[in-house]
Amino acid sequence: MNERPILVSEVGLRDGLQSIGSIMPTEAKMEWIRAEAAAGIRELEVGSFVPAKLLPQLADTAALVRFARTIPGLTVAVLVPNLRGAEAAIEAGAHKITLPCSVSETHSLRNLRRSHAQLLEEARAIAQALRALPRERRPHFECSLSTAFGCTLEGHIAPARVAVLAEQLMAAGCDEVGLADTSGYADPGAVRRVVRLVRSVVGQDALTGIHLHNTRGLGLANALAALEQNVTTFDSSLAGLGGCPFAPGASGNIVTEDLCFMLEAMGVDTGVDLAALLRVRAVLSRALPGESLYGFTAEAGLPLGFGATAQAE
Ligand code: ZN
Repeated sequence: MNERPILVSEVGLRDGLQSIGSIMPTEAKMEWIRAEAAAGIRELEVGSFVPAKLLPQLADTAALVRFARTIPGLTVAVLVPNLRGAEAAIEAGAHKITLPCSVSETHSLRNLRRSHAQLLEEARAIAQALRALPRERRPHFECSLSTAFGCTLEGHIAPARVAVLAEQLMAAGCDEVGLADTSGYADPGAVRRVVRLVRSVVGQDALTGIHLHNTRGLGLANALAALEQNVTTFDSSLAGLGGCPFAPGASGNIVTEDLCFMLEAMGVDTGVDLAALLRVRAVLSRALPGESLYGFTAEAGLPLGFGATAQAE
């Protein structure tokens, strides 16, 4: 179906941990990173370079980047809110940086205190800083189009607005744009339409990833719709860690274990050892007592003989 290999990008250390009250000790985060990489996950977003005052949960991001870089073959990703964050990410040695760019300008102003014009200025400044670096030190620069499917402040977001911002961000100098369903507004039809529309403007190779939440239970259906549009990178969170401040009781990102189970069951190679991945949940239950862990595959266990059929055929 896809020419490029499928990449499951673990974002629980950033998106999950920033949405819960508990602060996970750095040692436990390192154990999580080590264990998930050993289970076959090849890309991990380890944190965000936001001021520790705002998100004390992620204050150890630089140390985690340096640690994760010692794991061979692992792509170390971080979120950066601005140029200053990008400089810290470069300094620490991140392989990939993501600037969140909310399509809903209300959301952008409320969360990042930035209009679209200011956001584009920031993207240009980051792209310029990256161009000044030698190629081998230059991280991949993605702008994530958050609230691409809807916003808790503005409601429906017209796909045309997503396409316009995507085009402007590419012109500002980022390497690619990603789609993010920040508040669980997407459905499979919308995923199909928005992916196609944005690609018709920025090109197939400038949109390869999607970031989905399971707020209303459509997470995996949306992932499947994206897979069928040849999207190759899927953000997910171990045990669906996190949540949604606007929907109490709702899980956070799509669950890494369930996503990998769906893909592997379909015969799509993720490179992940599912049994090993399921064991990594123990790190979370030990380090985050009292936090909800989600996931159907972990509850039910792997089907009898799972993995054996694919090899025999
Ligand atoms: Zn998210």
